[in-house]
Amino acid sequence: MKLWIRNSDTDFERRITPLQQLNKIGINYQVSLFTKRDDLYPLPGGGNKARKLYYILSKAKKDGYNAVVTTGSNQSNHLRATAINAAVLGWKTILIVHDTKPEKIEGNLKITFLTGAELRFVEKSDVKIAMGNAMDNLRNDGLNPLYIEGGGHCLEGSLAYYEAVNELKVQLGNIKPDYIVMASGTGATQAGIEIGVSQFFPKCKVLGMSVARNQKRGKEAIIQSMIKLNNYLGNSVIVQDDIFFDDTKMGKGYEYTFPELIETIKWAAQTEGLILDPTYTGKAFYGLKRYIEEGLIPKRSNVVFWHTGGLLNLIASNEL
Ligand SMILES: *Cc1c(COP(=O)(O)O)cnc(C)c1O
Repeated sequence: MKLWIRNSDTDFERRITPLQQLNKIGINYQVSLFTKRDDLYPLPGGGNKARKLYYILSKAKKDGYNAVVTTGSNQSNHLRATAINAAVLGWKTILIVHDTKPEKIEGNLKITFLTGAELRFVEKSDVKIAMGNAMDNLRNDGLNPLYIEGGGHCLEGSLAYYEAVNELKVQLGNIKPDYIVMASGTGATQAGIEIGVSQFFPKCKVLGMSVARNQKRGKEAIIQSMIKLNNYLGNSVIVQDDIFFDDTKMGKGYEYTFPELIETIKWAAQTEGLILDPTYTGKAFYGLKRYIEEGLIPKRSNVVFWHTGGLLNLIASNEL
């Protein structure tokens, strides 16, 4: 078995994350509880953006791109994952940050700066124009820049998660999950998991926990991504409208915490050494906990909590 990772990938090298059983919480709640540790995806800071961006940029390299433009906030996991992967490839990178530059450079932003990417801080309303200008600048330098939407929201991002479900299937062996639970933002991750599940675990239900969007908008985005992915895969599977996207476990919204969330994060760390963050994974795990307590996830179910990362968001948070 090969244990090393080549530094400049031209081909997709399989990068696998561990599957871990959470015995103490599982026994306590009478479910078989597993966690797919994408927080340990092999890139500093890990997480679902690391999985997406490795996939997106590896494919872009094959397609002849050699520079990149994208956007996000100061503590964006997406910007950090883009910047590191682009540095590995030696690409010129312009990042449009829709935030004011903070006095204290910390968390994701610290790593993003460290890669040498060019950061341009703009007003939210100027993002589109700034991205267009960045594309022009790179083209004027004779480069062929790739334009990535915020959050790595694109077909390749969903494709990475479609393939990750197959990875999970191999790891689970004979065990069939009844539920997969994860944090859902732009929906690209959930869309990939939905299509993967429909193919590899047809009886399993995917439970997306919104971190920001209301149910209507969130579902629409997931379905759009699913349609694109299905077309790409040549699947005849009909995209069903019963996408599950719960917008009641995020408190007042993306940047807000609430006492039960903080309690859940402490409880997970203390009982299992499971480290969650207040922006994404803590909300998803809080939802999972509530579902088991309320019987929405019945006893003896096989449950996979897809850990999507967020460690650097926790580090940058003042709430814990
Ligand atoms: C971005 C992000 C998500 C949400 O992923 P989407 O594909 O946008 O739905 C979940 N967890 C973490 C830690 C993230 O950074």
